[in-house]
Amino acid sequence: MRKIYVAGNWKMNLIDDITPVVQISKNVKNLEIIIFPPFTHLQKYSEILNKTNIKIGAQNVFYEDRGAFTGEISYKFLEEFGVKYVVIGHSERRNIFKESDELISLKLKKILKTDIKPIFCVGEKEQERNLNKQKIVVENQLKISLGGIENNFKNIIIAYEPVWAIGTGKNATPFDAQEMHQFIREQLSTLFGKNIAYQISIIYGGSVNDENAKDLFREDDVDGLFVGGASLKGEKFKKIIEIVEKQII
Ligand code: PEP
Repeated sequence: MRKIYVAGNWKMNLIDDITPVVQISKNVKNLEIIIFPPFTHLQKYSEILNKTNIKIGAQNVFYEDRGAFTGEISYKFLEEFGVKYVVIGHSERRNIFKESDELISLKLKKILKTDIKPIFCVGEKEQERNLNKQKIVVENQLKISLGGIENNFKNIIIAYEPVWAIGTGKNATPFDAQEMHQFIREQLSTLFGKNIAYQISIIYGGSVNDENAKDLFREDDVDGLFVGGASLKGEKFKKIIEIVEKQII
């Protein structure tokens, strides 16, 4: 049985109130709840969440352990704050900060040698979907960044995040999400074998909210939700978690 995730990416923002999220931190079998605060707030939230089942993650990482890499952060520093997950290849890192598939691959290879699990983001831009090129784009992202990975494949979590759906209020339809998740699983099967591919969780991100969460999560290959804007409102994020919990039980 694949693990289910509900993850909140705060980006360069803070949540209005974490209390509702903390209150629902009961242990639902097979559900992992993760928040991704800015680096500067990892310590604060790892203390707040210390006695809950909610995990803490980082929004980025570099592939070297230490050295002259101004502005970058090593997994070794993240571990000190109890970080269990890291986002790699988010479209904002790709598009604003020009991170390449090759750089993303180096980060993935590094993190897979540690105890931290990567949430590896892939997804096409609006123009690419309009040209019906979404599968080619995602296939390339997967091939370049996952090619050459030799072990710990099972620790990878894939987030399908169509760029046109991020922060736009325009989510993928459950049908489109399922179609792409199934395609991603086929690609994983080619790369790592069928057995591993069926164990890797593939989560959907892009304008998820408490109204569309149920229908998106209902799809067979949607193993959880990656939430941006709606994770900044404690009450809304709590509702999304509850929607997923109910569908698991
Ligand atoms: C994201 O940035 O990963 C994301 C899914 O954002 P939003 O939910 O705001 O579209």
